[in-house]
Amino acid sequence: MDHNQNKHIRNPNSEKEMQQDKLAAVKAQKLKQMRTQQMNRMRRRQRTIAYLVSSTVVFLVILIILAILFHIDAGIGNKDQTERNFKIMLNDDSISKIKSDFKNGEHYVALSSLSDIYGYIISGDKNEMAITMNNKKNDNTAAFKVGTDEAVINGISVFLDAPSYLSGEELYIPASFFAKYVSDTSFIQKTKKHTEQATLRIQSKENAEKKPSKTKKGDVKNTEDKTTEKNNIISEKNNYTFKITGNKTTPAVSESGYYGKSVQNYEYKIDITNYEKFINPENKDQYLILINQDHPLTADYVPDSLTDLIFTRKDGRAVQKMQKAAAMSLEAMLKEAAANGFDTLSVTSGYRSYSYQKTLFDNQTASLKGQYGDKAQAKAAESVAVPGTSEHQSGLCADLHNLPEASQTFANTKEYKWLYENCAKFGFILRFPNGKQNVTGIIFEPWHYRFVGRYHAQKIMEQGLTLEEYMQSLKK
Ligand SMILES: [Zn+2]
Repeated sequence: MDHNQNKHIRNPNSEKEMQQDKLAAVKAQKLKQMRTQQMNRMRRRQRTIAYLVSSTVVFLVILIILAILFHIDAGIGNKDQTERNFKIMLNDDSISKIKSDFKNGEHYVALSSLSDIYGYIISGDKNEMAITMNNKKNDNTAAFKVGTDEAVINGISVFLDAPSYLSGEELYIPASFFAKYVSDTSFIQKTKKHTEQATLRIQSKENAEKKPSKTKKGDVKNTEDKTTEKNNIISEKNNYTFKITGNKTTPAVSESGYYGKSVQNYEYKIDITNYEKFINPENKDQYLILINQDHPLTADYVPDSLTDLIFTRKDGRAVQKMQKAAAMSLEAMLKEAAANGFDTLSVTSGYRSYSYQKTLFDNQTASLKGQYGDKAQAKAAESVAVPGTSEHQSGLCADLHNLPEASQTFANTKEYKWLYENCAKFGFILRFPNGKQNVTGIIFEPWHYRFVGRYHAQKIMEQGLTLEEYMQSLKK
């Protein structure tokens, strides 16, 4: 009973205990859960930290690799170690004491540095400065508007590659000006990885020709004479000229309204309609350009609109090309020749690049070296045009004949006679006529025809002039 009672009495207690136990169990459960959550949170945090640390490390490693990769360039870029080397060469001699500068990717030279070499006089003030070539020609002045890229050569506006600028009393202009606009001058620029080399090369023809006379035996001179002689060679005998002459934009021959008029007394067997606009260009002076030893083209001159010549000789050579107007006019001329029974004419040479002409010239010089020694180059110039002085670089002329090789005997053929009498109808002139070597500097070439457009071609052929003489006559 007691026991029962006890039990009975204890029962509620045990129920309480049980409840307490339950509560404790729940608490423990909750505690456990909390601990687990805490652990999870801690693990997550650790993972995040580990992730952050490792990704930072990876990022740093990438940065280091990139830094190593670009280290060399970055270092040199910062230090600007690009080596710049600007030379001025008179023939084969390097000229020292040149005031030069490099700005915005342009090589500059002070005007006074070249005055002795070219033999020019500098005049003007801080707004405008001019150089006047010390020779007998009338067209010989270039004026520079200080601080701008504007210049005027013999009355014609041109632009420098970069603005000129004053430094003290000195006017600095881009060195490329001389190569572009002064005769016997070229500018070569080579850029390798960290070196940039630019050379302004000035040719002194008389100096080169004079050399042999210096070695003459028994021709002993005192030093004063030699100095005077040298100065003469440099300042006067060279006669450097500007490549731009004033007559191009103001032709003395003015016949207004010429364009579009039908050409009297000219009859064609072929249909000339589609060729007319090429033979007789709207701007009749467009192709009236003198190219010779005194008026060379720059080494980088390449005509645009080079067009294949369908009358290129078919003996395996490359298809020859000319400027489009000249190519079309030549096509008309040779079609007309064929229509008149002269169908054996073909073109052996049209446009030639500067480098090709140089190869021809160098080969000729080499072949004469044994016989003429130091004089080989001058001798080569008698038969092969010095690079830059060949009309073939202009794409306005062509060699055409029906012989295996170009020869003066072509002048005896009826094909030549036809060409001579009819070339002007197609805008062409016989460029190197017989008996005019003293004017053109080139022997009689019955095969070489030059395009100038019909207007001027008629006048030149009618009067029996060379292009040199004709250009001169326009000045009067
Ligand atoms: Zn030729």
